[in-house]
Amino acid sequence: MTIFEKIAAGQISVRMIHETAELIAFHDGNPQAPVHALIVPRRVIARIGEATPGDAELLGKLLLAAPEVARLLGVAESGYRVVINNGRDAGETVPHLHVHLLGGRSLQWPPG
Ligand code: AMP
Repeated sequence: MTIFEKIAAGQISVRMIHETAELIAFHDGNPQAPVHALIVPRRVIARIGEATPGDAELLGKLLLAAPEVARLLGVAESGYRVVINNGRDAGETVPHLHVHLLGGRSLQWPPG
C-alpha cells in the first residue's frame, strides 16, 4: 500500500479536510506554505504521466476538488496554487498521484 492508501484507510492519522467516495484531502505533514493541502484519489494512479483516458472522470474530480478545498481553507479569494509533481526532477516522492494546494502567502514564480 502507498502511504496515501494507508491514510485513506485510516491507518495513519492526518488532519483531514474533506473526504468523498473517490478522494481525500488533508493537510500536508511538511507544509511549504501557511496553507498546504494534498488532494488524493483513493484509487492509485502512480503519477499524472501514467494516467489514461479511462482516468479522465477521476482526474476531473481531482481538479474540481481544488477550489472546494481552497474555500474550506479560506484562500479561495486570496489565491492559491495547484501543483502536481511528476518524476525525479519535479521532486515527486510519493508514487500515488496527488495535487498540492498551496496558499496563504504570496508565492514566487517561477517556482524553484
Ligand atoms: P510529492 O513530493 O509531490 O510526492 O509530495 C508528497 C507530499 O506528501 C510531501 O509534501 C509530503 O510532505 C507529504 N506527505 C508524505 N507523508 C505524509 C504524511 N504521512 N502526512 C501528511 N503528508 C505527508
